[in-house]
Amino acid sequence: MAESSPTNQIPVFFEDTSVAFASKSDAKLRKTYWLFSLMNQARVVNLGTFFIKLALKLNLPIKNLIRVTIFEQFCGGETISECNQTIAELGNSRIGTILDYSVEGEDDESSFDATAAEILKTIEKAAGSKTIPFSVFKVTGIASADLLEKIQRKDPLTDQEEAAYVKVQQRLQNLCSRAHEMNVRIFVDAEESWIQGIIDDLTYQMMQKFNREKAIVYNTYQLYRHETLEALKSAYLTARQKGYLLGGKLVRGAYMEKERLRARENEYFNPIHASKQATDEDYNLAIDFCLEHIEYIAICLGTHNEYSSQYCAAKMKKLGIEKNDNRIWFAQLLGMSDNISFNLSKAGYNVAKYVPYGPIDAVLPYLIRRAEENTSIAGQSSREYLLVKSELKRRGIGSL
Ligand SMILES: Cc1cc2nc3c(=O)[nH]c(=O)nc-3n(C[C@H](O)[C@H](O)[C@H](O)COP(=O)(O)OP(=O)(O)OC[C@H]3O[C@@H](n4cnc5c(N)ncnc54)[C@H](O)[C@@H]3O)c2cc1C
Repeated sequence: MAESSPTNQIPVFFEDTSVAFASKSDAKLRKTYWLFSLMNQARVVNLGTFFIKLALKLNLPIKNLIRVTIFEQFCGGETISECNQTIAELGNSRIGTILDYSVEGEDDESSFDATAAEILKTIEKAAGSKTIPFSVFKVTGIASADLLEKIQRKDPLTDQEEAAYVKVQQRLQNLCSRAHEMNVRIFVDAEESWIQGIIDDLTYQMMQKFNREKAIVYNTYQLYRHETLEALKSAYLTARQKGYLLGGKLVRGAYMEKERLRARENEYFNPIHASKQATDEDYNLAIDFCLEHIEYIAICLGTHNEYSSQYCAAKMKKLGIEKNDNRIWFAQLLGMSDNISFNLSKAGYNVAKYVPYGPIDAVLPYLIRRAEENTSIAGQSSREYLLVKSELKRRGIGSL
């Protein structure tokens, strides 16, 4: 089991909302409060989601409304250049940007090519920038999820599918080799277990090619899965044997309900831990393992969990690792957990925000997930809502 408390000297705290919201004017803070108080109400989110989807289907002019509310809170813009302001604002607080082209649900070859071309642009943008420490992509942005699933199941492929898979590998190779050429680190996001096996295989092939001198390609480890901690350890051993460095983004995992449902429907063993506590323990053990082998592993903690962030900071201190060691990063999503991002950055750690961007209707599924995540659960207000509320109170400007 991970140590229950990393040390009794926690080197960073997250309560200071004056640091978290320093860059927000009173007016902006009030607007953020208004938005989070709406999202805090499950009924408003359910109804809102229904009407937004309907209005977009009927071509009603609601994009502007979405833009000035939820889109502005959680996205950088519709294009890379529209994200420039967010990149600069975060940069002023020593927080990096990870441009995340968040278009979902595309499923044809020309969309995959277009997405790969867009990701290439994010790599090129990162290359010339001190404030963009990583790039990122999802394999399902450049490949059909059905095809990946078939390959993972080892089903025979048709000639057309074989050809499509060759193209997937070419797109992946192009992205990673360009990232390598331009010295830009690149995350491969983790997805559902029924395609993650093939995503892992492809990512390790890229690591073996491009992580010789530095961790350029990072795989993502979802610690909510029973097997991930062991998989991480064995990936480390393989990397050592084959002479490359391991890059790892550590997350808990985003598809818990979907995974459970599918396991139940198809009567196989649920790959997700039975409890949050078991996930938390594995997450912190993964931090231990990576920091103890930091000579050969570079990590990014993709988490909004305060304890894990403190745990990592304390463990770094215990092992004598510098706060700004370039092999260790913390990352949160734009518009969420600013108390963690800004306080970590102020304390001297390396921090970045995922900054999603893309056309408003295409990023809508992402926005809906953020809204659902910020509703009150069992009568308990969302954390973000409470944080903004407490900053309004601290500034003495009331709630609305
Ligand atoms: C920068 C960044 C990058 C990310 N990249 C990815 C990615 O590539 N792939 C991906 O899947 N996710 C990704 N995520 C999302 C992440 O996996 C989590 O869903 C999200 O961050 C919430 O977890 P947490 O660590 O922030 O904190 P917490 O709020 O402490 O944990 C919530 C998480 O704990 C787990 N959990 C909750 N209840 C249970 C339970 N009963 N049993 C078992 N486990 C439980 C779930 O994973 C849940 O999401 C990313 C998140 C960030 C911030």
